[in-house]
Amino acid sequence: MKTDILIVGSGCSGLYAALHLPADKQVTIITKADLESSDSFLAQGGICMLRDEKDFENYFQDTMKAGHYENNRESVEIMIRESQRVIADLISYGVDFEREADGSLAFTREGAHSEKRILFHEDITGKEITSKLLERAKERPNIQLLEYTTMIDLIEERNTCYGAVLRMKDGSLQTIEAGVTFLACGGIGGLYRHSTNFRHLTGDALAIAIRHNIQLENINYIQIHPTTFYTENEEERSFLISESVRGEGALLLDKNMERFVDELQPRDVVTKAILAQMEKDGTDHVWEDLRPIPKEELLSHFPNIVAYCREHGYDPETECIPVVPAQHYFMGGIKVNSDSATSMKQLYAIGETACNGVHGRNRLASNSLLESLVFAGRATTDVILRYNSIQRNPELFKKVRFEKYADAEEYGRLSNELVMKAIDQAEWIMEEEAKVSSEGRME
Ligand SMILES: Cc1cc2nc3c(=O)[nH]c(=O)nc-3n(C[C@H](O)[C@H](O)[C@H](O)COP(=O)(O)OP(=O)(O)OC[C@H]3O[C@@H](n4cnc5c(N)ncnc54)[C@H](O)[C@@H]3O)c2cc1C
Repeated sequence: MKTDILIVGSGCSGLYAALHLPADKQVTIITKADLESSDSFLAQGGICMLRDEKDFENYFQDTMKAGHYENNRESVEIMIRESQRVIADLISYGVDFEREADGSLAFTREGAHSEKRILFHEDITGKEITSKLLERAKERPNIQLLEYTTMIDLIEERNTCYGAVLRMKDGSLQTIEAGVTFLACGGIGGLYRHSTNFRHLTGDALAIAIRHNIQLENINYIQIHPTTFYTENEEERSFLISESVRGEGALLLDKNMERFVDELQPRDVVTKAILAQMEKDGTDHVWEDLRPIPKEELLSHFPNIVAYCREHGYDPETECIPVVPAQHYFMGGIKVNSDSATSMKQLYAIGETACNGVHGRNRLASNSLLESLVFAGRATTDVILRYNSIQRNPELFKKVRFEKYADAEEYGRLSNELVMKAIDQAEWIMEEEAKVSSEGRME
């Protein structure tokens, strides 16, 4: 196969990038599963937008504070500054955000936000955004969408990417030659037993990056979401109880039904408090009380959360629901610059797979859809500027040997192992460095 631009992943970042590429370029989007099975479809809470200039400093500080000030300041500024343009774009694609009675955009608030600056569509904002992007992509004659098509390797020589090796729906192996490749493969939740992510999101792009010496960054920066619905079935994808419910007044309670934490603190702080409380109480979960949220607000803003809880035996209108922390988001990833270019030529990384440093050590709620879209858009601008100097290398494709990919299960297992080892190693290095610096301080 041959294409101008290969996009690996059909979540919001991959689709948005495809829609921003010129109509005279042939774009091929592949996805490991069906088109609706991406984390972008699962986003509940919403997407941030800079409401007006007065909020810039507060929004910037909230993002930095949540990220423990390890954020890349330039990336944060870019994301905030470009937010209004991205939202205008989404509205032009048909995305329907909640409105006030006067027709203006309605905003909500989530944990660690000092202001209401989050746009939403009920509690299915991600589905609303991504399904509209998908509809628009399907209308474009230059965009081809291939389901159940998995990237298993990149084809590169001397640090320049020329395409990829794919496992097709029928299990056969093929190569695809591409002028430019975008990695838009999402997060790593599939590597964890408890995660809110789709199970097929296993950090494949990271394993490939490790094999090809593509630079990674902060790969041990992994966010645990404080509140997912507790279930005894450990194989199930964890269902998220959005932070917005706490933003609207929900409380966290221990086994004696007493509050033990300020619910609006950043995710990592609330997660730590819950885990400590569970240990103290000897329980597998804590309780979340959604009853302080006015009934009308609860039913209109969070209909899917209410329905899910009811289906699973709890009515949030009349009783508390059991919640537990689970792996949720990946702040680290393939290192990119502010145009989403990786350390390999002709290779970009966007969305959760990439790390441009926006989130620092911990992501502020509702910043990831926005970050995915802003930096996907910037990648396409960079590609357009550079496309005339793109190199092709058709000879290289004749040398590809498929034997090493033949055992799909074993290849996948080794890839997962590679990523987990790299995460553990990064964590170990960070702990050792922390020990050295604290010993230094004691002297
Ligand atoms: C339950 C939940 C709720 C969330 N709520 C919010 C929220 O309210 N606000 C917010 O801003 N963020 C939220 N997030 C985070 C946000 O949804 C994601 O960070 C964002 O959607 C990631 O988009 P993406 O395009 O990078 O990846 P995804 O949407 O995850 O898409 C990844 C794509 O890559 C494909 N893929 C992966 N590996 C391969 C491979 N080897 N070959 C081919 N295809 C591959 C997958 O099939 C998929 O199509 C939430 C996340 C979850 C899980």
